[in-house]
Amino acid sequence: MGGDAAVIRGARICYQSTPRTPDADERLIRRLLSSHPRHNTVFEHAVFRLGVKCPLFVARQWMRHRIGTFNEKSLRYCAAAREYYVPDDESADTDAYRAHQEASFDLYERLIAAGWKRERARGVLGLATYTEFVWTVNAWSLMNWLEKRLDKGAQWEHRQYAEAVLALYGEAMPITATAFAEEVLGR
Ligand SMILES: Cc1cc2nc3c(=O)[nH]c(=O)nc-3n(C[C@H](O)[C@H](O)[C@H](O)COP(=O)(O)OP(=O)(O)OC[C@H]3O[C@@H](n4cnc5c(N)ncnc54)[C@H](O)[C@@H]3O)c2cc1C
Repeated sequence: MGGDAAVIRGARICYQSTPRTPDADERLIRRLLSSHPRHNTVFEHAVFRLGVKCPLFVARQWMRHRIGTFNEKSLRYCAAAREYYVPDDESADTDAYRAHQEASFDLYERLIAAGWKRERARGVLGLATYTEFVWTVNAWSLMNWLEKRLDKGAQWEHRQYAEAVLALYGEAMPITATAFAEEVLGR
């Protein structure tokens, strides 16, 4: 929502300026992102709303990012679907991992059939269980998340989501996303 144009509007009102050449807006955004300290608030005029499906362990890390709004599927009100993340590196241990997930769901369903409340029965499910949430976040906070979760120090699974969102960012806000990738991420 807003896109590059919202950032440019926010910045130009500060300087009461109008672009003189077609690429002046691009240079302006690049300067705002590379200056220190960065002129952060102009990027808050552009907002994203993303629907995410990911393992619970990724969601837990994601929701540490406080500047943004989340709403998540409730396992009090909804039954958990038998969907869980399995790492790609197949091995004998992966079979045991898969069997463990299946056994957890078997027990979960048995407890519910026996009359347990969903909110209690969910306690037997593992962190690989998929959850779903909607995330509304402004472009500044999105870039903070991207910078942290694209870093090699971040968990590989979380990085895959960050790479996917970076690609969406490039489609939705090509000027800002390119400047961010080059000036901040050094790509
Ligand atoms: C690789 C990695 C490993 C991590 N490991 C752990 C871990 O082991 N344990 C753990 O608990 N967390 C861990 N975290 C989470 C980390 O500590 C942050 O909570 C998370 O990355 C969110 O970052 P943030 O605070 O910048 O984002 P947001 O919460 O979105 O905040 C954005 C910015 O707003 C400002 N801000 C927000 N709230 C406040 C506030 N209360 N006071 C002052 N300024 C504020 C800060 O400038 C902050 O950078 C890890 C994160 C990463 C990337």
